[in-house]
Formats: sequence, C-alpha cells, structure tokens
Amino acid sequence: MAKVIIIGAGGVGAVVAHKCAQVESVFTDILLASRTEDKCKAIAAQIERPIRTARVDADNVAELTALLQAEQPDLVINVALPYQDLSIMDACLNAGVDYLDTANYEPLDTAKFEYKWQWAYQDKFAAAGLTALLGSGFDPGATNVFTTYLAKHYFDEVEELDIIDVNGGDHGYPFATNFNPEINIREVSAECRHWENGEFVTTPPMSKMARFECPEAVGSYNIYRMYHEELESLSKHFPTLRRAQFWMSFGDSYLKHLEVLENVGMTGIEPVEFQGQQIVPIQFLAKLLPDPSTLGPRTKGRTCIGCIVRGKKDGRERVMYLYNICDHEACYREVQSQAISYTTGVPAMIGAKMLLEGHWKRPGVWNMEQCDPDPFMEDMNRYGLPWTVVELDPGFRLDVHKGQD
Ligand code: NDP
Repeated sequence: MAKVIIIGAGGVGAVVAHKCAQVESVFTDILLASRTEDKCKAIAAQIERPIRTARVDADNVAELTALLQAEQPDLVINVALPYQDLSIMDACLNAGVDYLDTANYEPLDTAKFEYKWQWAYQDKFAAAGLTALLGSGFDPGATNVFTTYLAKHYFDEVEELDIIDVNGGDHGYPFATNFNPEINIREVSAECRHWENGEFVTTPPMSKMARFECPEAVGSYNIYRMYHEELESLSKHFPTLRRAQFWMSFGDSYLKHLEVLENVGMTGIEPVEFQGQQIVPIQFLAKLLPDPSTLGPRTKGRTCIGCIVRGKKDGRERVMYLYNICDHEACYREVQSQAISYTTGVPAMIGAKMLLEGHWKRPGVWNMEQCDPDPFMEDMNRYGLPWTVVELDPGFRLDVHKGQD
C-alpha cells in the first residue's frame, strides 16, 4: 500500500523499522536511511522481511531531496535527531512527501524546546497539500493523544494535567541515558517551565519533587517536575487548562552523576578549545556514555507513562488517569530494544499508519492532539502498547515532597 523512508538508525529507528515491517499490509516498501549505513544494515539483518537501506546526511537538504525524488516515498518518518527536523521538512516540501517526527526542532547552540520553528511551516505544507505530523513518539506523542482521548470521552472541560513518566527499569550502569545522551541531558538540565493560569512559570531544574505510586505494582518512585515540549502545544490546544505539568522519575545515582557532571562543566553546549580543537563538552560526554541502543539486553523492569487529568463532567469534578505499562525485557524479546526506544518507536509507526490510512491526513502541520484519538488508541492496544483508564478520587493530589505545590 505505501512506501516509507525511515531516517535515523539509532535506538528508536530500529524499533520503527521492526514495527513497520510487522505491518506488511500498510508498509509495503521500507527504506531505512541514516548517516552511517552500516547501522541500517545491522537493523535490516534483524528483520525477517527484507527492507532496503541507504546512506544519507539529513543536514544536507539537496542530498536528501535527491534521495526523496529518486525514491518517491509516501512518507518520511524522521527519527534522526531534533537538529535535522527543519532540513528534513524542507526536503519533504521539495520532493512533495508527507512528514512525521518524534521530537521538536532544536538549534544546536541553544537548548530551546519550542514548536515555533516548525509551526512556521504551516502555510508551506498547507499550500503544497502535504501533511506534517509533529511529535509522534510517547512523550510527546501518546501523551498528547491520551489527553485528547480523556477530554473527548470523559470531560466537558479539562482543567489540570499531570503527565507522569516513570522508568522503573534498571540497566545496571551507574549512569547511562535511555535515549540519545546529548538530547536527554540537554532536556533534563534545562530550567523547568510549567503552565499555570495562562502563562509558563519558570523554576530551577529538579526543584519540585513528588512521590508517585505506580499502578500494577510497578513501584513507588520520586518524580521531578521538568519542562517537556508537549506542554507548549497542549496548553495552546486546550485553552481551558489552568495548570499543566510534566514529571519524570530519576534515580538517586542518575541525579548525583548529573549534578557532578554539570558542576564540572561536562554538560555544556558551548564549544571549548582543547589542544587546538573545538570540543563541545556534552558531545564528548555522549561519546563516553553507553550507547542507548546497547542497553536492551541488560535492562529489566517496567515503564509506566500516563496522564492524570482533572476537570468537569456534567458540572461534577472528576479525575481520570490513563496509562501504559511496558516491560523492558518483553520489548527486547520482540524487537531487540529496551522499552524507551520501544515506547517511542511504536507510536511513530502508528502515527505513520494514521497518515497512510488517511485517518489523520490533511494538509498542514499538526500536533497529535489535533487529530481524532480513537483510531490511534485502538492501534496502541493492537501493536504492543495496551493502555488502561481508571477514575481516581476527586480529592486525589500528587504527594509533593519538595518545592511548593
Ligand atoms: P540515537 O542517537 O540512538 O539515533 C539517532 C540516529 O540518527 C543515528 O542513527 C544517527 O546516525 C542518525 N543521524 C544523526 N544525524 C543525522 C544526519 N545528519 N543525517 C542522517 N542521520 C542522522 O537517537 P534515538 O534513536 O535515541 O532518538 C531518535 C529521536 O527520537 C530523537 O530525535 C529523540 O529526541 C527522539 N525521541 C523521542 C521520544 C518521544 O517519546 N517522543 C523519546 C525518545 C527519543 P549516526 O549513527 O551516524 O550517528
């Protein structure tokens, strides 16, 4: 039915390739392209069905445009790094191809998580009759769809949103990141911003902490409030939200290492001169850390990611919690990756399927919450990320231990 080009052969790209290959009726022709073609070939060798590979530098718009014009795919699934988003969108416009990604554009020299650069492509995509779907991973991605699903089926008006991302997995290293180290460390060391009464409020990183008991015996974890990009689009598209916060679990060992690395300047993104060479500290650090795509065989435990929404239904206050629990070892058995790559790659495949089947295809640039959540939620159950929705007591509040509520 459709031909797709997946760009990026890291942890997430591997899962997207596996999952697209599983859905042969939709993804009839798959080309996996990345900067290092050997990585694409290694992934292709894991997959029973033949998929093709290519080398491409996605920072080079002319080179990527030529590949897209030669291949004429129906869709590009961008799971390279956020730095490539705009060059890949430009190449898609040049070649007349739909676009999907899992993370918003970031300029290399500033850790700024904003949709403004990609939203500015709205008119160009609309005029070309092309669709760009932004942020089709888990968070952003499934969390946006969870929020919309709850708003559609359980509320007349949504008022408060807490997105809670717990990774109860253990890879046995004192310090490693579960996805690209550079992107991960830029994200967690950034100042915290959350949405409160019509504006973003800035607080120091990791200054607010709560204790959260996950359902289904996943365990009890310290979760820290931080900025995450879906807060920008969700606060825009759900204007009744009075407060929106994002929380992520971090272990003590991770936080201790991060603090020391920050204090000695190893997380800096400005180049420094070292023995006549310009070196970006965070890029050097990323080189030393374990490659996230190698964590799969050693990670045990489960993730629990979901949305708690408070709002009104028929004049009554209610609180709903929608979540997915995913087991690292089960992911590894299925696609040879840990659950962080899996929970990102599966929604990327489903988002692609939504576009290719026409459910979400309309000209312009869209965030996930602007699309009908129902077919996506059905496919989450079908393709490995089953979810549960429960009603919490209206008196429910997060158990805040540090920072003001
Ligand atoms: P990795 O670093 O493991 O992989 C990135 C891949 O992109 C590598 O294969 C790399 O090639 C390739 N790449 C980098 N630059 C270029 C380029 N210029 N041209 C072509 N290919 C390039 O990252 P992950 O797989 O962990 O993450 C992929 C994306 O998923 C990131 O954007 C990340 O932010 C996003 N993500 C989203 C999540 C969500 O829930 N929404 C969660 C986790 C990640 P090479 O091997 O040569 O370096």
